[in-house]
Amino acid sequence: MTPQLNTEQLIEAAHRYGTPLYVYHAERITHQFEQLTHSFSGLPARFFYAAKSLTNLHILNHIRQIGADVDCSSINEVKLAMKAGFRPEQILYTSNSVSFEEIAEARSLGVHINIDSLSNLTKFAEANRGSYPVGIRIRPDIMAGGNLQISTGHDRSKFGIAMADLPEVYRLICEKDLHVRVLHIHTGSEIKEVEVFLKGLDLLFELAPNFPHLQVIDLGGGFKVPYQEGEKGTDVNALAAAVSKHLYAFENRTGIDLEIWFEPGKYFVAEAGSLLCSVNVLKRSGDIEFAGVDSGLNQLIRPMFYGAYHQIDNLSNSNGVMKPYTVVGNICETDTFAEDRMMAEVREGDILCIRNAGAYGFEMASSYNARLLPAEVMFRDGSMHLIRRRQTLDDLLLAQIPLED
Ligand SMILES: *Cc1c(COP(=O)(O)O)cnc(C)c1O
Repeated sequence: MTPQLNTEQLIEAAHRYGTPLYVYHAERITHQFEQLTHSFSGLPARFFYAAKSLTNLHILNHIRQIGADVDCSSINEVKLAMKAGFRPEQILYTSNSVSFEEIAEARSLGVHINIDSLSNLTKFAEANRGSYPVGIRIRPDIMAGGNLQISTGHDRSKFGIAMADLPEVYRLICEKDLHVRVLHIHTGSEIKEVEVFLKGLDLLFELAPNFPHLQVIDLGGGFKVPYQEGEKGTDVNALAAAVSKHLYAFENRTGIDLEIWFEPGKYFVAEAGSLLCSVNVLKRSGDIEFAGVDSGLNQLIRPMFYGAYHQIDNLSNSNGVMKPYTVVGNICETDTFAEDRMMAEVREGDILCIRNAGAYGFEMASSYNARLLPAEVMFRDGSMHLIRRRQTLDDLLLAQIPLED
């Protein structure tokens, strides 16, 4: 059975710590990881949690304890992962448009590195010769993912090394003794179709014989999770079966043994998190009933930024009559969480639960409008743990230079 927090637990957290509040469920994260390892059992597969979806140290620590590895998008994420106890061998650093100094620092920390530009790859090859194997991110010119904004592998994308530049990479391999150990692609987020991963896989298989030190194919993240009722996520069982078939065919044909790596973010944490908020104001305008809550796009930007759908439930009146509400935030911008959404009758003071907010929720939050970042709570083994306190006004002032009087 899929682990799920019940309404009483969520309301208890809101009462104890106030709203807005992010609530996470450790067992759900474990469940997601077990789905992956179960589906891919028997395959040489490794799963690196994409930390950028949620970096709270307690979440990272939990993910380490259940046996997953971690993928980082910045040197600071690498440092957070190390603080959470990951060893360098368990950390993958997949950067984009970063300075060479950041890559050099990652190298000195001893983590796996995927490089995403010819410029940095050339500098890396010069500096390290054969002493430090790397991964390279390839831009496969595949259109994939939920929409253009979250699609990263198409031919106008900023990500990766273009296929046309591969001859330059081959030259670095020959002339600078560059050891390319990993071929990486990440074509986007919310990829439902198994075929997209297979297309990427087959492309990398075609390139594989050009890389004498190759050991790993890294297919990135982007597994889709359902946000709306009736929606389907990536079928990881089907994906595992197909990858297995393609991998063994490749190995039989070439005699090359490869590991397969993945970097899911959403898949680990999206469904494990909720944003709880309270209804401040009900306001009628024509045929629209606004429910104005004590959160906003500064605390969950996905609906306004990506047009993302999040299910919203009224926890305080779950048996109320169903009515349509437009749920809006308290920011001085149009910030709509949901439009004309059927919900159990809402009263001022009710606690609403915005579901599937674990990934790219808190992590993309800001203190816009000088609002304080919400607290974060994690349920684990049935008990509730505060894992980040609510910000205070003093926190907002922390890095500012005080006025002289
Ligand atoms: C964002 C990202 C991921 C994770 O994407 P999800 O859609 O959260 O699975 C994985 N790898 C790389 C390189 C990324 O940039």
